[in-house]
Amino acid sequence: MIKLPVVVLLALASVSTAGRRVVLDPGHGGSNAGAAGSGLREKHLTFALSGQIAERLRAKGIEVTLTRTADVTRTLRQRGEVAAAHAADVFVSIHANASPTRTQRGYETFVLTTRGVDVDGRALRSDSSLPRPGVDREIGLLLDDVERGAVQWEAADLAARIQRAIRDRRGASGDRGVRQDSHHVLLGATMPAVLVEVGFVDHPIEGKELALPAVQAQLADAIAAAIEDQLAD
Ligand SMILES: [Zn+2]
Repeated sequence: MIKLPVVVLLALASVSTAGRRVVLDPGHGGSNAGAAGSGLREKHLTFALSGQIAERLRAKGIEVTLTRTADVTRTLRQRGEVAAAHAADVFVSIHANASPTRTQRGYETFVLTTRGVDVDGRALRSDSSLPRPGVDREIGLLLDDVERGAVQWEAADLAARIQRAIRDRRGASGDRGVRQDSHHVLLGATMPAVLVEVGFVDHPIEGKELALPAVQAQLADAIAAAIEDQLAD
């Protein structure tokens, strides 16, 4: 490996992420407050965290768009449209959790799929309601599958980075892992997309922690660093 002065390495790092585009999605908002507990509303927590993550990424020259910039209601479709309109390199939706027993805690990251089914895009071709495809259509579907597969690998990679980065700062005991889910946030968007559940607002200890500025800063640091690493690769 070639040794480079630190200044050069820093310059290379910022060049590789400069101009990359991220869409951050603060979960809930407006009449949809999301989970509640420990005096926290999910919609406020996700908004605060998204703002802090945006600030950190913009300082690295990364373009950030938020799906909402105020306490307003947004449909999932509108959120997906923002992501598509900005041709984002990655889409990251921020959420917080609650559990019926108020006993669950920890953070988890979901890989979002475009159609809310499994990672294997070939499921599309089993859809018999499609008109009998011609050869071109068949190739089109195949390419779409390949592309979608790559996008979902990238999303899985980003999700793993986010989990690792939060674990480094918040400890391994809360690590609930990377999961797959059928949230419909994307609605046809083709960029890697993940949804982070940063913790449980109604857990007696974790909920209080999530309200602390220092803990919010840890989470924002972790998620921003993971996104930055992903874009620099
Ligand atoms: Zn939520």
